Amino acid sequence: MLNIFEKRFPSELNRNDEYYMSHAYNQALIAWEKDEVPIGAVVVQAGQIIASAHNQTRRTLDPTAHAEILAISQAAKYIGDWRLNECKLYVTKEPCPMCSGALVVSRIQGVYFGLNDPKMGCLGGAIDLSNLPSSNHKFKVKGGILKKETHALLNAFFEKKRAEKKEKEAH
Ligand SMILES: [Zn+2]
Repeated sequence: MLNIFEKRFPSELNRNDEYYMSHAYNQALIAWEKDEVPIGAVVVQAGQIIASAHNQTRRTLDPTAHAEILAISQAAKYIGDWRLNECKLYVTKEPCPMCSGALVVSRIQGVYFGLNDPKMGCLGGAIDLSNLPSSNHKFKVKGGILKKETHALLNAFFEKKRAEKKEKEAH
């Protein structure tokens, strides 16, 4: 399935939220190229990207192969500790219940996402797992980074999928 979206090349000089989200976005593009739902994530420690992943559920036939889960595992392996309390995760869409839960138990320092998800998002969209009443691990959450871009990408993917399905049904 062809992709009309282009890779982002953020300036190395300005490592802000948009810089890291651009790298997550580029991971989402890789997912699209593999016909996966285009969601990408990166983990950042001390300003460095230490893990990058994209959604792989279709190819691996694994419902847990979300970009965030894969990036969390990669990051933990890289730093040699299951605690990611000095790490931030950037992901193109608000994390689902599973990924939000994994972020809570990984003791992540902060989560930054693009598009919010009022249906399944669990960092403020449907509910907020970053702020469980009795948990002593609460973390910073910020949404809406490259919102327009991440929204356009997902929208176009699903539109294309719907068109393909229609065409199939017509034949
Ligand atoms: Zn998820």
